[in-house]
Amino acid sequence: MKDQRVIVAGAGPVGLLAALVLAKRDVPVLVLEAEPALTHDLRAGSFHPPSLEMMAPYGITDEMQAIGIRVPRWQIRDRREGVIAEWDLGLIADQTPYPHRLHLEQHRLTPMIYRRLQALSHVKVRFNSRVVDLGQDADHVWTLAETPHGVERFEGSWLVGADGGRSTVRKQLDIEFEGFTWPERFVVVSTTFDFGQRGYTSNAYVADPEQWAAVFHMPDAGPPGLWRMAFPVPIDEADEETLAPDAVERRMQYFYPRPERYEVRYKSIYRVHQRVAKMFRRGRVLLAGDSAHLNNPLGAFGLNGGIHDAVNLAEKLARVCRGEAEESLLDLYVRQRRTVNIEYVQEGSIQNLKMLAEADDEARKKRFAELRRIAADPKRAKEYLLHSSMIASVRRAAAIT
Ligand SMILES: Cc1cc2nc3c(=O)[nH]c(=O)nc-3n(C[C@H](O)[C@H](O)[C@H](O)COP(=O)(O)OP(=O)(O)OC[C@H]3O[C@@H](n4cnc5c(N)ncnc54)[C@H](O)[C@@H]3O)c2cc1C
Repeated sequence: MKDQRVIVAGAGPVGLLAALVLAKRDVPVLVLEAEPALTHDLRAGSFHPPSLEMMAPYGITDEMQAIGIRVPRWQIRDRREGVIAEWDLGLIADQTPYPHRLHLEQHRLTPMIYRRLQALSHVKVRFNSRVVDLGQDADHVWTLAETPHGVERFEGSWLVGADGGRSTVRKQLDIEFEGFTWPERFVVVSTTFDFGQRGYTSNAYVADPEQWAAVFHMPDAGPPGLWRMAFPVPIDEADEETLAPDAVERRMQYFYPRPERYEVRYKSIYRVHQRVAKMFRRGRVLLAGDSAHLNNPLGAFGLNGGIHDAVNLAEKLARVCRGEAEESLLDLYVRQRRTVNIEYVQEGSIQNLKMLAEADDEARKKRFAELRRIAADPKRAKEYLLHSSMIASVRRAAAIT
Protein backbone atom coordinates (compact mmCIF):
# COMPACT_ATOMS: atom_id res chain seq x y z
CA MET A 1 0.00 0.00 0.00
CA LYS A 2 3.02 2.32 0.38
CA ASP A 3 2.84 3.54 -3.23
CA GLN A 4 -0.91 4.09 -2.90
CA ARG A 5 -0.72 7.23 -0.77
CA VAL A 6 -3.74 9.53 -1.04
CA ILE A 7 -3.18 13.27 -0.65
CA VAL A 8 -6.08 15.23 0.82
CA ALA A 9 -6.10 19.02 0.36
CA GLY A 10 -7.87 20.65 3.33
CA ALA A 11 -8.27 19.64 6.98
CA GLY A 12 -11.89 20.76 7.28
CA PRO A 13 -14.50 18.24 8.41
CA VAL A 14 -14.77 16.69 4.93
CA GLY A 15 -11.03 16.26 4.32
CA LEU A 16 -10.39 14.88 7.81
CA LEU A 17 -13.27 12.42 7.63
CA ALA A 18 -12.22 11.19 4.17
CA ALA A 19 -8.69 10.73 5.57
CA LEU A 20 -10.00 8.72 8.54
CA VAL A 21 -12.19 6.44 6.42
CA LEU A 22 -9.23 5.76 4.08
CA ALA A 23 -6.76 5.25 6.90
CA LYS A 24 -9.04 2.83 8.74
CA ARG A 25 -8.79 0.70 5.58
CA ASP A 26 -4.96 0.81 5.75
CA VAL A 27 -4.51 3.39 2.98
CA PRO A 28 -1.65 5.83 3.73
CA VAL A 29 -2.85 9.45 3.76
CA LEU A 30 -1.21 12.87 3.73
CA VAL A 31 -3.46 15.82 4.60
CA LEU A 32 -2.23 19.27 3.57
CA GLU A 33 -3.89 22.19 5.39
CA ALA A 34 -3.21 25.84 4.55
CA GLU A 35 -3.86 27.20 8.05
CA PRO A 36 -1.48 26.75 11.02
CA ALA A 37 -4.15 24.81 12.99
CA LEU A 38 -7.70 23.47 12.66
CA THR A 39 -10.00 26.38 11.87
CA HIS A 40 -12.40 27.61 14.53
CA ASP A 41 -15.04 29.41 12.46
CA LEU A 42 -18.71 29.37 13.42
CA ARG A 43 -20.39 27.54 10.63
CA ALA A 44 -22.29 24.28 10.40
CA GLY A 45 -23.82 22.92 13.53
CA SER A 46 -26.81 20.74 12.69
CA PHE A 47 -26.22 17.07 11.89
CA HIS A 48 -28.85 14.86 10.25
CA PRO A 49 -29.45 11.15 11.07
CA PRO A 50 -27.51 9.69 8.07
CA SER A 51 -24.39 11.72 9.01
CA LEU A 52 -24.61 10.36 12.55
CA GLU A 53 -25.00 6.84 11.18
CA MET A 54 -21.96 7.26 8.91
CA MET A 55 -19.68 8.54 11.67
CA ALA A 56 -20.86 5.99 14.26
CA PRO A 57 -18.46 3.16 13.23
CA TYR A 58 -15.52 5.45 14.12
CA GLY A 59 -16.87 6.29 17.59
CA ILE A 60 -17.36 9.93 16.57
CA THR A 61 -21.15 9.95 16.89
CA ASP A 62 -21.09 8.76 20.51
CA GLU A 63 -18.57 11.47 21.35
CA MET A 64 -20.70 14.11 19.60
CA GLN A 65 -23.90 12.94 21.31
CA ALA A 66 -22.23 13.28 24.72
CA ILE A 67 -21.88 17.08 24.28
CA GLY A 68 -24.34 18.04 21.53
CA ILE A 69 -28.01 19.00 21.83
CA ARG A 70 -30.48 16.40 20.55
CA VAL A 71 -33.25 17.98 18.52
CA PRO A 72 -36.11 15.49 18.08
CA ARG A 73 -38.63 18.16 17.00
CA TRP A 74 -38.34 21.26 14.84
CA GLN A 75 -40.74 23.91 13.63
CA ILE A 76 -41.73 25.94 10.62
CA ARG A 77 -43.20 29.21 11.83
CA ASP A 78 -44.59 32.43 10.50
CA ARG A 79 -43.39 35.53 12.33
CA ARG A 80 -46.94 36.80 12.79
CA GLU A 81 -48.99 33.59 12.91
CA GLY A 82 -46.64 31.48 15.07
CA VAL A 83 -46.17 27.73 14.57
CA ILE A 84 -47.31 26.44 11.16
CA ALA A 85 -45.97 22.88 11.53
CA GLU A 86 -43.99 21.02 14.15
CA TRP A 87 -42.12 17.93 12.94
CA ASP A 88 -41.36 15.03 15.23
CA LEU A 89 -38.49 12.77 14.11
CA GLY A 90 -39.95 10.09 16.38
CA LEU A 91 -42.09 9.28 13.31
CA ILE A 92 -38.98 7.91 11.58
CA ALA A 93 -37.60 6.01 14.59
CA ASP A 94 -38.10 2.78 12.61
CA GLN A 95 -35.83 4.12 9.84
CA THR A 96 -32.75 5.28 11.76
CA PRO A 97 -31.08 4.64 15.13
CA TYR A 98 -30.76 8.45 15.45
CA PRO A 99 -34.27 9.93 15.14
CA HIS A 100 -33.13 13.49 15.85
CA ARG A 101 -30.90 16.26 14.56
CA LEU A 102 -27.79 16.81 16.62
CA HIS A 103 -26.56 20.34 17.25
CA LEU A 104 -22.85 20.81 17.74
CA GLU A 105 -20.61 23.36 16.06
CA GLN A 106 -18.28 21.94 13.44
CA HIS A 107 -15.20 23.32 15.18
CA ARG A 108 -15.96 20.77 17.93
CA LEU A 109 -16.22 17.93 15.40
CA THR A 110 -12.88 18.46 13.61
CA PRO A 111 -10.71 17.92 16.73
CA MET A 112 -12.55 14.63 17.36
CA ILE A 113 -11.58 13.35 13.90
CA TYR A 114 -8.08 14.84 14.10
CA ARG A 115 -7.38 13.05 17.41
CA ARG A 116 -8.29 9.73 15.79
CA LEU A 117 -5.97 10.45 12.86
CA GLN A 118 -3.07 11.28 15.18
CA ALA A 119 -3.27 7.75 16.59
CA LEU A 120 -2.57 6.24 13.15
CA SER A 121 1.07 6.01 12.03
CA HIS A 122 0.23 5.89 8.29
CA VAL A 123 -1.51 9.30 8.40
CA LYS A 124 0.23 12.64 8.40
CA VAL A 125 -1.56 15.98 8.76
CA ARG A 126 0.66 18.92 7.76
CA PHE A 127 -0.51 22.39 8.72
CA ASN A 128 0.91 25.58 7.12
CA SER A 129 0.84 23.74 3.79
CA ARG A 130 -1.23 25.56 1.18
CA VAL A 131 -1.75 23.63 -2.06
CA VAL A 132 -1.00 26.00 -4.94
CA ASP A 133 -0.54 23.71 -7.93
CA LEU A 134 -1.03 20.12 -9.02
CA GLY A 135 -0.51 17.76 -11.91
CA GLN A 136 -0.96 14.11 -12.82
CA ASP A 137 0.05 11.33 -15.20
CA ALA A 138 -1.43 7.86 -15.68
CA ASP A 139 -0.31 6.53 -12.25
CA HIS A 140 0.49 9.50 -9.99
CA VAL A 141 -0.53 12.93 -8.80
CA TRP A 142 1.74 15.64 -7.47
CA THR A 143 1.01 18.86 -5.67
CA LEU A 144 3.05 21.92 -4.83
CA ALA A 145 2.34 23.46 -1.45
CA GLU A 146 3.58 26.69 0.11
CA THR A 147 5.08 25.80 3.49
CA PRO A 148 7.29 27.64 6.00
CA HIS A 149 10.24 25.89 4.28
CA GLY A 150 9.31 27.22 0.85
CA VAL A 151 7.38 25.50 -1.91
CA GLU A 152 7.42 21.72 -1.39
CA ARG A 153 6.39 18.96 -3.76
CA PHE A 154 4.32 15.97 -2.61
CA GLU A 155 3.47 12.87 -4.60
CA GLY A 156 0.71 10.34 -4.25
CA SER A 157 -1.54 8.08 -6.24
CA TRP A 158 -4.75 10.11 -5.78
CA LEU A 159 -5.68 13.62 -4.66
CA VAL A 160 -8.90 14.54 -2.87
CA GLY A 161 -9.75 18.25 -3.10
CA ALA A 162 -11.56 19.05 0.16
CA ASP A 163 -10.24 22.59 0.28
CA GLY A 164 -13.56 24.42 0.67
CA GLY A 165 -15.69 26.73 -1.48
CA ARG A 166 -12.76 28.66 -2.97
CA SER A 167 -11.01 25.37 -3.78
CA THR A 168 -7.60 25.79 -5.40
CA VAL A 169 -7.81 22.16 -6.53
CA ARG A 170 -11.05 22.83 -8.43
CA LYS A 171 -9.63 26.01 -9.95
CA GLN A 172 -6.35 24.33 -10.97
CA LEU A 173 -8.38 21.65 -12.75
CA ASP A 174 -10.28 24.42 -14.52
CA ILE A 175 -13.62 22.95 -13.48
CA GLU A 176 -16.56 25.29 -13.78
CA PHE A 177 -18.53 26.01 -10.56
CA GLU A 178 -22.00 26.24 -12.04
CA GLY A 179 -24.84 28.07 -10.30
CA PHE A 180 -25.45 31.49 -8.77
CA THR A 181 -24.83 33.73 -5.78
CA TRP A 182 -27.83 35.16 -3.89
CA PRO A 183 -27.95 38.97 -4.03
CA GLU A 184 -28.64 39.26 -0.28
CA ARG A 185 -26.07 38.23 2.37
CA PHE A 186 -26.85 36.50 5.66
CA VAL A 187 -26.04 37.84 9.11
CA VAL A 188 -25.58 35.32 11.94
CA VAL A 189 -26.11 36.42 15.54
CA SER A 190 -25.65 34.27 18.67
CA THR A 191 -27.40 35.22 21.90
CA THR A 192 -27.74 33.70 25.36
CA PHE A 193 -31.48 34.55 25.46
CA ASP A 194 -33.36 31.25 25.90
CA PHE A 195 -35.98 30.96 23.14
CA GLY A 196 -36.67 27.42 24.40
CA GLN A 197 -38.63 29.04 27.26
CA ARG A 198 -40.77 30.87 24.66
CA GLY A 199 -42.06 27.84 22.76
CA TYR A 200 -39.27 27.54 20.22
CA THR A 201 -37.89 24.10 19.38
CA SER A 202 -34.09 23.94 19.20
CA ASN A 203 -34.31 24.32 15.44
CA ALA A 204 -36.92 26.56 13.85
CA TYR A 205 -37.44 28.36 10.56
CA VAL A 206 -39.48 31.54 10.72
CA ALA A 207 -41.09 32.93 7.55
CA ASP A 208 -41.40 36.67 7.05
CA PRO A 209 -41.23 38.69 3.83
CA GLU A 210 -39.25 41.45 5.58
CA GLN A 211 -36.91 39.42 7.72
CA TRP A 212 -37.16 35.62 7.82
CA ALA A 213 -35.03 33.79 10.39
CA ALA A 214 -33.38 30.43 10.96
CA VAL A 215 -32.94 29.49 14.62
CA PHE A 216 -30.40 26.95 15.92
CA HIS A 217 -29.86 26.18 19.60
CA MET A 218 -26.18 25.30 20.14
CA PRO A 219 -24.36 23.93 23.17
CA ASP A 220 -22.22 26.39 25.14
CA ALA A 221 -20.18 25.95 28.31
CA GLY A 222 -23.51 25.23 30.10
CA PRO A 223 -27.28 25.89 29.99
CA PRO A 224 -29.11 27.61 28.36
CA GLY A 225 -26.58 27.25 25.53
CA LEU A 226 -26.41 29.71 22.66
CA TRP A 227 -29.25 30.53 20.30
CA ARG A 228 -27.89 31.24 16.84
CA MET A 229 -30.08 33.18 14.43
CA ALA A 230 -29.54 33.80 10.71
CA PHE A 231 -31.30 36.75 9.05
CA PRO A 232 -31.16 38.16 5.50
CA VAL A 233 -29.31 41.42 4.82
CA PRO A 234 -30.66 43.76 2.10
CA ILE A 235 -28.41 44.14 -0.95
CA ASP A 236 -27.57 47.81 -0.37
CA GLU A 237 -26.70 47.59 3.37
CA ALA A 238 -22.99 47.93 4.17
CA ASP A 239 -21.36 45.24 6.38
CA GLU A 240 -20.37 47.78 9.09
CA GLU A 241 -23.96 49.03 9.20
CA THR A 242 -25.34 45.47 9.62
CA LEU A 243 -22.86 44.54 12.35
CA ALA A 244 -23.24 47.77 14.37
CA PRO A 245 -24.57 46.85 17.88
CA ASP A 246 -27.77 48.94 17.49
CA ALA A 247 -28.57 47.40 14.12
CA VAL A 248 -28.10 43.88 15.53
CA GLU A 249 -30.35 44.82 18.45
CA ARG A 250 -33.01 46.19 16.06
CA ARG A 251 -33.01 42.90 14.11
CA MET A 252 -33.35 40.86 17.29
CA GLN A 253 -36.16 43.10 18.63
CA TYR A 254 -38.03 42.85 15.32
CA PHE A 255 -37.72 39.06 15.54
CA TYR A 256 -38.79 38.82 19.19
CA PRO A 257 -39.54 42.07 21.03
CA ARG A 258 -38.52 42.24 24.69
CA PRO A 259 -37.90 45.15 27.12
CA GLU A 260 -34.21 44.34 27.72
CA ARG A 261 -31.36 44.41 25.24
CA TYR A 262 -30.11 41.09 23.92
CA GLU A 263 -26.75 39.81 25.06
CA VAL A 264 -24.95 39.09 21.80
CA ARG A 265 -22.01 36.71 21.89
CA TYR A 266 -21.07 36.52 18.17
CA LYS A 267 -22.11 38.15 14.93
CA SER A 268 -20.86 37.68 11.41
CA ILE A 269 -21.97 38.24 7.87
CA TYR A 270 -21.47 36.10 4.80
CA ARG A 271 -22.35 35.58 1.16
CA VAL A 272 -24.44 32.62 0.09
CA HIS A 273 -24.03 30.59 -3.09
CA GLN A 274 -25.82 27.78 -4.89
CA ARG A 275 -23.15 26.09 -6.97
CA VAL A 276 -22.18 22.60 -8.13
CA ALA A 277 -18.88 21.75 -9.82
CA LYS A 278 -19.41 20.60 -13.39
CA MET A 279 -17.17 17.59 -12.69
CA PHE A 280 -16.31 15.92 -9.36
CA ARG A 281 -13.44 13.91 -10.92
CA ARG A 282 -10.66 14.62 -13.35
CA GLY A 283 -8.39 11.59 -13.66
CA ARG A 284 -6.71 10.99 -10.32
CA VAL A 285 -8.18 14.08 -8.65
CA LEU A 286 -11.60 14.08 -6.95
CA LEU A 287 -13.63 16.84 -5.31
CA ALA A 288 -15.70 16.50 -2.13
CA GLY A 289 -17.57 18.83 0.25
CA ASP A 290 -17.68 22.59 -0.31
CA SER A 291 -15.05 22.39 -3.05
CA ALA A 292 -17.64 20.43 -5.07
CA HIS A 293 -20.84 22.21 -4.04
CA LEU A 294 -22.21 25.16 -2.05
CA ASN A 295 -25.73 25.91 -0.85
CA ASN A 296 -27.57 28.21 1.53
CA PRO A 297 -27.78 26.85 5.11
CA LEU A 298 -31.60 26.60 5.28
CA GLY A 299 -32.17 22.90 5.83
CA ALA A 300 -28.62 22.26 7.07
CA PHE A 301 -27.62 20.32 3.98
CA GLY A 302 -24.09 21.71 3.35
CA LEU A 303 -21.78 19.96 5.75
CA ASN A 304 -24.09 16.94 5.95
CA GLY A 305 -23.82 16.55 2.17
CA GLY A 306 -20.04 16.91 2.50
CA ILE A 307 -19.93 14.16 5.13
CA HIS A 308 -21.92 11.90 2.80
CA ASP A 309 -19.43 12.69 0.01
CA ALA A 310 -16.43 11.97 2.24
CA VAL A 311 -17.67 8.55 3.34
CA ASN A 312 -18.96 7.52 -0.09
CA LEU A 313 -15.73 8.58 -1.83
CA ALA A 314 -13.27 7.25 0.74
CA GLU A 315 -14.93 3.82 0.93
CA LYS A 316 -14.71 3.48 -2.86
CA LEU A 317 -11.21 4.97 -3.14
CA ALA A 318 -9.93 2.59 -0.45
CA ARG A 319 -11.22 -0.36 -2.48
CA VAL A 320 -9.44 0.97 -5.58
CA CYS A 321 -6.19 1.55 -3.64
CA ARG A 322 -6.38 -1.96 -2.19
CA GLY A 323 -6.78 -3.45 -5.65
CA GLU A 324 -10.28 -4.68 -4.82
CA ALA A 325 -12.09 -2.56 -7.42
CA GLU A 326 -11.52 -0.92 -10.79
CA GLU A 327 -10.91 2.82 -11.00
CA SER A 328 -14.28 3.17 -12.72
CA LEU A 329 -15.85 2.73 -9.26
CA LEU A 330 -14.88 6.36 -8.68
CA ASP A 331 -17.21 7.45 -11.46
CA LEU A 332 -20.02 5.88 -9.48
CA TYR A 333 -19.11 8.22 -6.59
CA VAL A 334 -19.52 11.13 -9.00
CA ARG A 335 -22.84 9.88 -10.38
CA GLN A 336 -24.26 9.24 -6.93
CA ARG A 337 -23.12 12.32 -5.08
CA ARG A 338 -23.38 14.91 -7.87
CA THR A 339 -26.89 13.75 -8.77
CA VAL A 340 -28.25 13.96 -5.24
CA ASN A 341 -26.58 17.29 -4.63
CA ILE A 342 -28.50 18.73 -7.57
CA GLU A 343 -31.78 16.90 -6.89
CA TYR A 344 -31.94 17.26 -3.11
CA VAL A 345 -29.45 19.76 -1.71
CA GLN A 346 -29.72 22.51 -4.32
CA GLU A 347 -33.42 22.02 -4.94
CA GLY A 348 -34.32 21.70 -1.23
CA SER A 349 -32.24 24.61 0.06
CA ILE A 350 -33.51 26.96 -2.70
CA GLN A 351 -37.14 25.97 -1.96
CA ASN A 352 -36.57 26.53 1.77
CA LEU A 353 -35.24 30.03 1.22
CA LYS A 354 -38.07 30.94 -1.18
CA MET A 355 -40.68 29.63 1.27
CA LEU A 356 -39.32 31.69 4.18
CA ALA A 357 -39.00 34.87 2.11
CA GLU A 358 -42.31 34.54 0.18
CA ALA A 359 -43.77 38.04 -0.21
CA ASP A 360 -46.98 37.06 -1.98
CA ASP A 361 -49.73 36.65 0.63
CA GLU A 362 -51.76 34.14 -1.39
CA ALA A 363 -48.75 31.96 -2.22
CA ARG A 364 -47.65 31.99 1.42
CA LYS A 365 -51.11 31.01 2.70
CA LYS A 366 -51.34 28.20 0.13
CA ARG A 367 -47.93 26.81 1.08
CA PHE A 368 -48.72 26.97 4.82
CA ALA A 369 -52.08 25.23 4.30
CA GLU A 370 -50.26 22.45 2.45
CA LEU A 371 -47.63 22.14 5.22
CA ARG A 372 -50.40 21.90 7.83
CA ARG A 373 -52.08 19.12 5.82
CA ILE A 374 -48.77 17.21 5.53
CA ALA A 375 -48.06 17.57 9.25
CA ALA A 376 -51.54 16.29 10.15
CA ASP A 377 -51.18 13.13 8.01
CA PRO A 378 -48.69 10.68 9.61
CA LYS A 379 -47.88 8.97 6.29
CA ARG A 380 -47.11 12.24 4.49
CA ALA A 381 -45.32 13.65 7.54
CA LYS A 382 -43.06 10.60 7.59
CA GLU A 383 -42.23 11.09 3.92
CA TYR A 384 -41.52 14.78 4.58
CA LEU A 385 -39.18 13.83 7.43
CA LEU A 386 -37.32 11.22 5.37
CA HIS A 387 -36.71 13.94 2.81
CA SER A 388 -35.79 16.81 5.17
CA SER A 389 -33.49 14.59 7.27
CA MET A 390 -31.57 13.58 4.09
CA ILE A 391 -32.39 9.87 4.49
CA ALA A 392 -34.16 9.95 1.12
CA SER A 393 -31.12 11.54 -0.58
CA VAL A 394 -28.74 8.88 0.77
CA ARG A 395 -31.14 6.13 -0.37
CA ARG A 396 -31.48 7.74 -3.80
CA ALA A 397 -27.66 7.88 -4.13
CA ALA A 398 -27.36 4.21 -3.15
CA ALA A 399 -29.89 3.28 -5.83
CA ILE A 400 -27.77 4.86 -8.59
CA THR A 401 -25.56 2.25 -10.27
C1 LIG B 1 -22.44 30.52 8.57
C2 LIG B 1 -22.54 29.14 8.02
C3 LIG B 1 -23.43 28.25 8.60
C4 LIG B 1 -23.52 26.96 8.13
N1 LIG B 1 -24.41 26.11 8.74
C5 LIG B 1 -24.51 24.83 8.29
C6 LIG B 1 -25.36 23.87 8.95
O1 LIG B 1 -26.04 24.18 9.94
N2 LIG B 1 -25.39 22.60 8.49
C7 LIG B 1 -24.62 22.21 7.41
O2 LIG B 1 -24.67 21.03 7.03
N3 LIG B 1 -23.79 23.08 6.78
C8 LIG B 1 -23.70 24.37 7.19
N4 LIG B 1 -22.82 25.25 6.59
C9 LIG B 1 -21.91 24.76 5.55
C10 LIG B 1 -20.68 24.07 6.16
O3 LIG B 1 -20.03 24.91 7.09
C11 LIG B 1 -19.72 23.64 5.07
O4 LIG B 1 -20.47 22.86 4.17
C12 LIG B 1 -18.54 22.83 5.62
O5 LIG B 1 -17.65 23.64 6.34
C13 LIG B 1 -17.77 22.18 4.46
O6 LIG B 1 -16.67 21.48 4.94
P1 LIG B 1 -15.41 21.28 4.02
O7 LIG B 1 -14.46 20.44 4.82
O8 LIG B 1 -15.81 20.83 2.67
O9 LIG B 1 -14.82 22.74 3.79
P2 LIG B 1 -14.21 23.75 4.86
O10 LIG B 1 -14.85 23.58 6.18
O11 LIG B 1 -14.26 25.09 4.20
O12 LIG B 1 -12.71 23.27 5.01
C14 LIG B 1 -11.76 23.47 3.96
C15 LIG B 1 -10.37 23.42 4.57
O13 LIG B 1 -9.43 23.53 3.52
C16 LIG B 1 -8.43 24.49 3.88
N5 LIG B 1 -7.88 25.02 2.62
C17 LIG B 1 -8.42 25.95 1.81
N6 LIG B 1 -7.62 26.14 0.73
C18 LIG B 1 -6.57 25.29 0.86
C19 LIG B 1 -5.42 25.03 0.07
N7 LIG B 1 -5.20 25.66 -1.09
N8 LIG B 1 -4.52 24.09 0.52
C20 LIG B 1 -4.74 23.42 1.71
N9 LIG B 1 -5.81 23.67 2.50
C21 LIG B 1 -6.72 24.59 2.07
C22 LIG B 1 -9.16 25.50 4.73
O14 LIG B 1 -8.28 26.23 5.56
C23 LIG B 1 -10.10 24.59 5.52
O15 LIG B 1 -9.50 24.11 6.68
C24 LIG B 1 -22.71 26.55 7.04
C25 LIG B 1 -21.80 27.44 6.46
C26 LIG B 1 -21.72 28.73 6.92
C27 LIG B 1 -20.74 29.67 6.27
